[in-house]
Parts: sequence; structure tokens; C-alpha cells
Amino acid sequence: MNKNKKDLKDFKHLSKEQHHVLREKGTEPAFSGKLLHNKESGIYTCAACGNPLYSSKAKFDSKTGWPSFDEAIQSSVKLKTDASHEMIRTEVICAKCGSHLGHLFNDGPTQTGKRFCMNSLALNFKNSKKEKIKDENKN
Ligand code: FE
Repeated sequence: MNKNKKDLKDFKHLSKEQHHVLREKGTEPAFSGKLLHNKESGIYTCAACGNPLYSSKAKFDSKTGWPSFDEAIQSSVKLKTDASHEMIRTEVICAKCGSHLGHLFNDGPTQTGKRFCMNSLALNFKNSKKEKIKDENKN
């Protein structure tokens, strides 16, 4: 199976916009993402494969217009040098499926000094309270 065909099969659940960000290294317009102002408790996962990436505890308001985190869940992401757009940046990709998530900058305001600048389109949010309610209903 060639890469394009495999991509279509593995990532067919993604919207056109999500596919552009995750599989073609796109960037959503600033202040456009649905998760930018989300302040609920839970886990942010890879929209392509479901890999848990960030805790809501790591989220902060960077004023950049993209959801930002000061720490990734251990081993959940991989970093890659990105020399596109006449800049040297650090690309953040999902360690599990290799999808593009955003970029990492070392100008974060918290103790980690890191700013994981993410695309809302690359993430899904799992609310920890809703998960809890679901679990309680099972018992
Ligand atoms: Fe993934």
C-alpha cells in the first residue's frame, strides 16, 4: 500500500481541515480553534490516533491564539527540526502515529520554560468528569 492510500485508510475519520493540519503540516488560523479557551479538566488526545498528549493541568493562555501547554505527557510526542517557512522551528509530532500537532518554543512563562503551541484541529478533548459519569453508569 502506498503512503497516500494508507493515509486515506488510517485517517479517513478526519475532516478536510484536520487532515490538512495533521497530515500536511498545516496551521489553523489563530483564534479559530475550538479548544483555545477550553478550561475543563481532562486529557487532550491526538485527533488522528487517540494518543493521550496533554493534561489540562499543563494548559495555559499564551495569548497567541493557539492552545498552549507547558508540558507533554511523557513519551507522547516526538520533536523534529522544521526549517520550512524560512524559520528554524521545532515541530511536535505524535509519537504514536507521526501526525503533525504544532511547534515547541522555549519561551514558556512557567517553570518548564516550554510552550507547546498546538492546533485545536489536531486535538480531541476528553473531559475527565464526563468519563467519570460514564464509569459510574456502568456499575
Ligand atoms: Fe497520533
